[in-house]
Amino acid sequence: MQVLLVEDDDRLAEVLGQALAARGHRTVRAGRADDALRLKQGMDFVLLDLGLPDLDGLQLLRRLRKVSAVPVIVITARSDEGTVLQGLRSGADDYLVKPFRIEELLARMDAVMRRTGRTGSGPAPAPQTVRVGDVAVDLRAREVTVAGRPVALTRREFDVLALLAREPGVVRAREEILDAVWGDAYLAVSRSLDVHIAGIRAKTGCPGLIRTLRGTGYRLAED
Ligand code: CA
Repeated sequence: MQVLLVEDDDRLAEVLGQALAARGHRTVRAGRADDALRLKQGMDFVLLDLGLPDLDGLQLLRRLRKVSAVPVIVITARSDEGTVLQGLRSGADDYLVKPFRIEELLARMDAVMRRTGRTGSGPAPAPQTVRVGDVAVDLRAREVTVAGRPVALTRREFDVLALLAREPGVVRAREEILDAVWGDAYLAVSRSLDVHIAGIRAKTGCPGLIRTLRGTGYRLAED
C-alpha cells in the first residue's frame, strides 16, 4: 500500500522507509505538516510524528480528519497519558512511543488495517447509477439526466454531485468537498462551492436534490 510518512527526522524516515519497502509498501515522505497536507491524496496509511517543525502533529491530525478517514498511527517521543489520549481523541487509530521496534510498528499497522476492514486496494466500487426522484447520476459515464433528458454540468459541478452521490445520505463537510474536488480544503475559493451547488440545483431544476446542513455540510437528498 501507499504510506505517507510524516517525520522530520531524516535518519528515522530513511530506516522506516526501508523497512516499509521490504514489506512491499511504497512510502511518500513529508518532513513538514504543510507537505503532508499537500501529499495526503490517495494514501492508504499515514504514520504521523507529532513533533514537526511547522505545526503540532495533533493539529495536523485534526485537519486531516476533517477530510479523510485514512488509517493513522501516531509516532511520538511524548509518552505522557494526556498526549496519548489527545492523539486518540483527535482521530489516531493507534499510537507508538519512540523508541519502538520496527516489527512492532508493522504488526500494529496490520492490526489497524484489519480493524478498519481495509485491504489497501482502495475503496469499494461505487454503484454505477444513483437515482433521486427523476434525477439519474451515471458515475462511470459522468452523465446526469432528469426524467431521461441529459443535463450539461461543468466538470466540477459533476465532481461535486458525484462525491455526494457515491454515498447518498452521507453528509460531506465543506472542507471535504473542497479537498476532493479542488484539491485543497482551505482554499480561498470556498465561495465557488456555493456557486457550484447553486449551478447543480438550477440546471437539474431540483433545488431539493442537494440538502444544505447549516454549519455541517451537504448531502444528497434521498428518494
Ligand atoms: Ca520530530
